[in-house]
Order: sequence, then C-alpha cells, then structure tokens
Amino acid sequence: MARILITNGTVITMDSRRRIVKDGAVAIENDRIVDVGKSDALKDFQAEKVFNARDRVVMPGLIDAHCHHVQMLARGLADDVDLIAWCYDRIYPYETLLTDEATYLSALLCCIEMIRTGTTCVCDPGGYPMDNVGRALAESGMRGIIAWSGMDQWSDDRPLPDGLPGKLSTEETLKVEEKLVKEWHEREGGRIRASYGLRVEPNVTDNLYRGINELAKRDGVMVQMHAAVNKDQVEWVRSRTGRTTIAHMNSLGILGPHWYFIHMAVLTDEELRVLKDNDCRVIHVPGATLHGAYGSATVGKFPEMIDMGITVALGCDSSAANNSLDMFRAMYEAATVHKEARVVPDLIAPEKALEMATIDGARAVHWDNEIGSLEKGKKADVVIVECKRSNWIPLHDFSLVPTLVYSGEGADVETVIIDGSIVMEKRKILTVDVKKVLRQAQRATQKLIKKLPFKLKPKWPFE
Ligand SMILES: [Zn+2]
Repeated sequence: MARILITNGTVITMDSRRRIVKDGAVAIENDRIVDVGKSDALKDFQAEKVFNARDRVVMPGLIDAHCHHVQMLARGLADDVDLIAWCYDRIYPYETLLTDEATYLSALLCCIEMIRTGTTCVCDPGGYPMDNVGRALAESGMRGIIAWSGMDQWSDDRPLPDGLPGKLSTEETLKVEEKLVKEWHEREGGRIRASYGLRVEPNVTDNLYRGINELAKRDGVMVQMHAAVNKDQVEWVRSRTGRTTIAHMNSLGILGPHWYFIHMAVLTDEELRVLKDNDCRVIHVPGATLHGAYGSATVGKFPEMIDMGITVALGCDSSAANNSLDMFRAMYEAATVHKEARVVPDLIAPEKALEMATIDGARAVHWDNEIGSLEKGKKADVVIVECKRSNWIPLHDFSLVPTLVYSGEGADVETVIIDGSIVMEKRKILTVDVKKVLRQAQRATQKLIKKLPFKLKPKWPFE
C-alpha cells in the first residue's frame, strides 16, 4: 500500500515534546510517515487506504527489546525452576533438538503473537539456527534484529548438551557470528538487521568477549548479552575473576554504546556509573524476573539507572521465560513492580513505561533516527488501539497514558502497520496463515517433547 491515511484518532506521537494530538491524523507514503497533525489539516492527503481511528489511540509500534523466537515452542517446558535449571536442564536440551522446520515455525508463531499485541520491532539475542528466524521476520513483515548466541566454554557445574549448535570453539563462534551479520544485516530494505551476541557469563571466555567486541565495532553493530541476570551468575563471575560481571567486562576495556545488556538484576553502584559512562544499553525484562525469580524487582536498580539517564528498554524474553509476549503487560509490570518492592507509589510512572516500550527501545537498538515515535520522516511503524472497550472506559485526557499502561492489553490492538505495510487489519493478520501455523506448531512440539531428556506431568489428574 503506497499511501495510507489514519484519521480522527488520538495520536500519541512520542516526539520530543511528547505531544498527543486529539482528532489527529498520520499520513504514510510507502515506508515513511510524511505528516502528523490534526485530521482537518491532513484532509486533502490523497490516500489509497483510509483508517478511521475514532475512539482509538494511534501510537508508535511497540519495541520488544528482548525476545527469543526459537523458544516459542518451549512454552510450558520451563516453569517454576531456578535460572540454572531453566537453562541447563530444560532450555538447552530443548534447543539441541530443534530442527530447521521447528525453528521456522517457532519464529512464525512468535511473530504472530507480537503482531497481534502491537509489537512492530523485536530484538532477538539469538538461538540456532537463525536463518529460519530471519526468514520468518521477512515473511511476517516484522522489523527486527537477529543474532547468534555465542558461547565458547562450559564447565561441569554448567554442562551444555552435546549437539547444542552454539557449543563451539572461540574461532568457530566468531566465524559463525560474522557470517550471520554479513548475511542478514540490512536485509529486506533495511527492515531486518543483525548484531553479535553472547549467551551468558559462564559460557563466554575473555577471548570471545574481546573477539566479538572487535567484530561488532568493525561492523558498526551491537553485541547483545544476558548479563548479571541473578546473584548466582554474578557470584560465578566473582569466584573466577574477583570482579562482578560489568566490572570484569570493564577491566577488559571493551565497553561502549554497542554493548546491549539484558536482565541486569545484580549490579553495584560503581557498575551503574560504568554503564552510564560507556552509554551501554540495558534491557529490563520484568515478566521474566517475575516468572523466574531473578531479583530485578527486589534488588535491581532500574529506577536508579533511569534517573541517571542510562537507556533502559523493555523486553518480554520468550514464551518459556515470561511467558507472555504482550508488551502492554510488560509496561504494566515495569510501572508497578518497583513501586511495590520499594513501597513508593510513583517510582516509575506509566509515561516512563511507555517511553521504555517505544522511543527508549528505539534508542536502545540504535534505531531511534527511524522508529520509536510518530514523526514526519520516520519509518511508518504504527499501531491503532481500540479504546471504546470496557477496560478503557471511562477515559479522560489526564488518564489516557496511565489507562493505556495500567488497563490496556495487547488484545486491544486492532491494526498494525510496519514499514508502511498493513500487517494486521481489524485483528486479522494478513501476512501469515495463523491457523496453519498454530496447528503445525502444536504438532511439531508434540513430536519434539517426546525426545526431551525430561518428562513433565500435570499436577492435577486429567480424565
Ligand atoms: Zn533471553
């Protein structure tokens, strides 16, 4: 669709003034927003497709700053266990069994769930093999960044299953990551990007930190890494290096704005200063900490990081670690868990939570020149959210953003436009055969779980 006009809506622009335009309109030409303003002022825009957004919010597509596409078939396989068991007993064995077809289906299912709930850009820290994830992003119309989750060491207390595709030497890891970035960065007219990736501290040698850092700087892309996820992981680093995670990485002299750290529950005040000085990106995944008990809400310093001006974005992680991919829920969690943990009722405002899911997310992934807000010249990643629903009424100007964050849900999203293409209209996804993917994903997972080295049983009797 070349020319689209969205009119009569309440437009939350997320521009630098955070303007909200009542009876507002957004004009789109090809992949770009060409105008944002009052509906009246844009009424002469010649559009081939018009969306009447009366009783609706028009807002930038949400940015899920951390989501594993290949874990979508692992929903229900890793609930109620600690992080070590989650990784080493459940998810790594699952990832070892994934076929090309399974990863492709997993990724398509993931895209469906994100589009359905208003996410238009996703940052995937990697799994294996990622070509299938790239293919699913390309076909579904999603915007995204993909990576290979690099690991080059393993120990007896953190064993990796044989056959896990990421279990490689330092040289092999560097080679496979370099190849992925070369093949996938700036694909689909720039809608798909690639980055480097490291899995988690116990699986990364200092040589890999240094090697990946050099490649990322050379190629001008990020390095995504789960870091300081919980106390166990940080203690593991301390026992081997005498330093905590970020302090250790700082001692290697590698940190900079291209480092993109996920979870980050356990940090010292000194590490916060290091992150700020180096303009590192931090991704908060409140749903994963609530589900997996990492400590982000109780000992995490997210309010402090936000106060210091560190870029903190929001993610959903995966259907095995959260298990929801609804960014509305993630915003709710970000705006509530810290208040409760500190007993301070206005600690992270809903407006901040919305920033984290849009413009701050765009800055985190180094894409804020093109996405994260509705402004002339930016890419047309726009969602239309229905507000005349029981979870939104009564609605006032003063309560619009709080209502969106505290009462809104992904199911309120009606239309999704990504890169100027209509990907979902009136809640129907146009790019993927949803019923077919649901059926195939269920079938593929039933086959896969038979081969897992663990068996899960329902707690209650099924008759
Ligand atoms: Zn993750």
